[in-house]
Amino acid sequence: MQISATPTHCPYCALQCGMNLTPAPDGGVRVAERADFPVNRGALCGKGRTAPALLSSRVRLTSPLVRSQGRLTPASWEEALDRIAGALARARGEHGADACAVFGGGGLTNEKAYALGKFARVVLGTSQIDYNGRFCMSSAAAAGNAAFGLDRGLPFPLEDIPRTGCVILVGSNPAETMPPALRYFTELRDNGGTLIVVDPRRTRTAELADLHLAPRPGTDLALALGLLHLVVAEARTDEAYIRERTTGWQEARAAAMAHWPEYVERITGVPVPRLREAVRLFCAPESAMVLTARGPEQQAKGTDTVGAWINLCLATGRAGRPLSGYGCLTGQGNGQGGREHGQKADQLPGYRKLTDPAARRHVAEVWGVDPDGLPGPGRSAYELLDALGSDIRTLLLMGSNPVVSAPRAAHVEERLRSLDFLAVCDVVLSETAALADVVLPVTQWAEETGTTTNLEGRVVLRRRALTPPDGVRSDLEVLHDLAARLGVEKGFPTDPEEVFEELRRASAGGPADYSGITYRRLAEENGVFWPCPAPADSAPAPESGSGSGSEPGFEVHPGTPRLFLDRFATEDGRARFVPVTHRPSAEEPDEEYPVLLTTGRVVAQYQSGAQTRRVEELNAAAPGPFVELHPRLAARLGAAEGDPVAVVSRRGRAVAPARITAGIRPDTVFMPFHWPGEGRANTLTNPALDPTSRMPEFKVCAVRLERVREE
Ligand code: SF4
Repeated sequence: MQISATPTHCPYCALQCGMNLTPAPDGGVRVAERADFPVNRGALCGKGRTAPALLSSRVRLTSPLVRSQGRLTPASWEEALDRIAGALARARGEHGADACAVFGGGGLTNEKAYALGKFARVVLGTSQIDYNGRFCMSSAAAAGNAAFGLDRGLPFPLEDIPRTGCVILVGSNPAETMPPALRYFTELRDNGGTLIVVDPRRTRTAELADLHLAPRPGTDLALALGLLHLVVAEARTDEAYIRERTTGWQEARAAAMAHWPEYVERITGVPVPRLREAVRLFCAPESAMVLTARGPEQQAKGTDTVGAWINLCLATGRAGRPLSGYGCLTGQGNGQGGREHGQKADQLPGYRKLTDPAARRHVAEVWGVDPDGLPGPGRSAYELLDALGSDIRTLLLMGSNPVVSAPRAAHVEERLRSLDFLAVCDVVLSETAALADVVLPVTQWAEETGTTTNLEGRVVLRRRALTPPDGVRSDLEVLHDLAARLGVEKGFPTDPEEVFEELRRASAGGPADYSGITYRRLAEENGVFWPCPAPADSAPAPESGSGSGSEPGFEVHPGTPRLFLDRFATEDGRARFVPVTHRPSAEEPDEEYPVLLTTGRVVAQYQSGAQTRRVEELNAAAPGPFVELHPRLAARLGAAEGDPVAVVSRRGRAVAPARITAGIRPDTVFMPFHWPGEGRANTLTNPALDPTSRMPEFKVCAVRLERVREE
């Protein structure tokens, strides 16, 4: 135990709020304010404030568990690791390398994400690796890459938001998901800027807006096209910018002009005068931003939907200009870094493409392997989960709880049960861990050092403040121990800084270049924005050693808080319009399923709730799911506040108490997705996939409601 305060970061969302950990009288730690970290300036939400509770919780796992006669029972680490290594070797020997799969998480540190990707490709030789971040930001990433040649959640720091003229916040509710971020939007309004919120629900964030547009779920694409149509019709385009900094305008313009405002009103339910008002507010100031989150992104047309909002930014000359542009508010703690370092099915470290021969050569050299031996891209997250028990026989899962968080969750649960062998690393017995053949108890955020990359692309250092309890090991130790058992003795260090040094070399020269970032810089500078290449004469060589990054005598790269100001990351330096058109959701309401379901989050819970449901204070604040519905819908159903309501989709049925509010569209119901069991919202959701990003359609499906009569 250290005696002074340890500056570190919250284990939960993508804001990665800074906090200090100080010793507590019970031998643990408590959270204290850390005002020097600019993102949250000391503010924390309830999740961050209570994060230490799980460190000493009695529900925490401190011994490996192995399944014996159908029950999970405590076992030694040696036995547990032997069983996992044996199962992986058996699956590989009997069915080939791709019979082994690896599933990661957007909460894993950069070091773990990197090591997990390397473990899958080098030790197992499998192409079957993806992570739950696919369910978070993949549509925005695909659209950003298509338009700008590079995806970084926000291409500018949060501090730019209060200084812009107008923000359109699409399908994002920071009041619930990341409350300390709300101040950026209140300051925007205090400074005279305007806030437009697009959300089918009148959320606490929408309450703050100058204009709230409430489209039918699944129609954000049409809404963006309608706005672009009006921008053109009202001659509000920035022709010089379009000419000098973009390509593809004519095709995108033609697509938008086919979406007349009246047609868009019919699709979205947003009246034409409100569309006009949005255009006026967005175009009037010199600078403006569009920020998206899961609302438009978690759709089977999520990539095109985000593309349509990017087109609006490009047509009005907003992207790549000071205080302007498009950005995505990533959700998970390391959703950004998690996708940059190799646990995504199609990525190598440094955000390199797995299909790029030069990228394969570079990373293979760092790893000391033959590039031709590296597997190619594997299945996306849902497709991987769907293949469990068929050609995938054994799964190693780290930092994820798909029994609650995956779409069509009952089916995913069944696929997990059908595996020959499931190994889970977690801190508690999550609903997914409860199905495992072996569960490994791992260290928590405050007990280990590592880096994450927040939603701004700011790499930050989490520091160890506490000695882990006996019986747990870090994920890095697990990968080291498994690799050794599978015949790879070297290349999986257990020291996070050593892993980071290798990550620097692997990322050098890639789009997400971390080669100029060191632990020392992160500690001294309160985070560094990527790309941050090492100076040419001090660049870390691929094969060994480390570049100086911050050694004296070299000019240190300052990092890149703002991207695209001079040029975009495309070959010709211009942003690309992508022509997109409206299309219906994969499921539209019909006679049998006449209502739309959309899902989301509440402030006291995080993701699948595996951690936050086990924190007393958070559980008391948000003890269970609910079905939010409009009074007219409730009256038709004959349901009063608190009555149990069954929501039925083509995939299953969930029951939760009614929460009646006029702040939701009468054709839509909302359920938060943090809980398992009878009220599991993801029992209902549709796994229809976006053709580009492979994002499932979490945000819209057709359901019917049934009143549940209590006995
Ligand atoms: Fe943690 Fe996010 Fe809450 Fe900040 S907003 S304290 S990072 S959960």
